[in-house]
Amino acid sequence: MAELRKDYILEKFVVLPPDSYKVKNDTKQCPYCPGNENMTLPSVLSLVVKEGMLQRLSDNEENIIENWDVRVFPNSNPVVTSVNENIYRDKPLYSEPAYGYHYIVVATPDHQENLPKLSIEKWSNVLLVLQNYLSHLYTKKSVTYVSIFVNSGFQSGSDIEHAHFHLMTFSTIPPIIESEAEASNRYLNENGNCPACNIISTETGGPRQILDTESYIAISPWASTYPYEFWIYPKRHTTSFSKISQKEFRDLGLILRSTLGGMDRVLQKPSFNLIFHLSPEKKNSRQIHWHIEVYPQIHNWSGLERGFGVYVNHVSPEKSAEVLGSAARKEFGDVIGIK
Ligand SMILES: [Zn+2]
Ligand SMILES: [Zn+2]
Ligand SMILES: [Zn+2]
Repeated sequence: MAELRKDYILEKFVVLPPDSYKVKNDTKQCPYCPGNENMTLPSVLSLVVKEGMLQRLSDNEENIIENWDVRVFPNSNPVVTSVNENIYRDKPLYSEPAYGYHYIVVATPDHQENLPKLSIEKWSNVLLVLQNYLSHLYTKKSVTYVSIFVNSGFQSGSDIEHAHFHLMTFSTIPPIIESEAEASNRYLNENGNCPACNIISTETGGPRQILDTESYIAISPWASTYPYEFWIYPKRHTTSFSKISQKEFRDLGLILRSTLGGMDRVLQKPSFNLIFHLSPEKKNSRQIHWHIEVYPQIHNWSGLERGFGVYVNHVSPEKSAEVLGSAARKEFGDVIGIK
């Protein structure tokens, strides 16, 4: 069973995954490549794109779906589990079951095609699958929040190279989402408008803008924690990821492909984390103007970050936007065919 412990006095949580977490794949084979489907748990969704038509299939005992374009299956080394053992402890040694579901979404059958190189078509498909499966997970018992994130590269906390996403649920709202939602709500009450909409209008056309498309904008945030960190916002005020249309997915794919491709080009394929900050979709929960945050991992944290929560960033967000912006615009031109 996975366990969630809380600090003696702080609102700080740590998850202790179940023992299976220590299981490592000793073979040299990639478990996420086509042909190796039996190295993972059976798929709950295999998206097969045939002549423009999307087929939603899944593995069963007799039949493993081949020729998939996107494949979703339960993580065999989950951080949280849906084993229901009611083991609780009270303060100061607070503990509760880390109850939830943890799925892997493989973005492409092609092992060489990392996310910064993923085509717009493939981005659209994987975003659609993430949207569908996110909604599905919210229908399950004890799911208060569904997170979507990417660990790419060794320094990001990943040991599998093949392009994939994590979809993981929590029985409480994760602390960073909670504090963003609370701060947004407070701002809204005090100022009468959404803080993210204000950020977008402040940063549009300014020295921290990286790129914009019809519906999205990418910026280096004013107080970036990581060198070359960037955020992508929908320009229009929207709190729900589940309502994005196919057309907007293409546009989101375009800005993701261009900015990640630019980052890959100028930082020589860095490890990175990509995080979706989405509103909790439960009734009465506080909402946020959803966005994506990307944290390239190019140097380690020091004692200041780890011990004091004081972040030191040696690359100014203005410099970051200049470097990433010119690379992202080149990628954008390549993708849409302008030289
Ligand atoms: Zn692979
Ligand atoms: Zn807004
Ligand atoms: Zn955020």
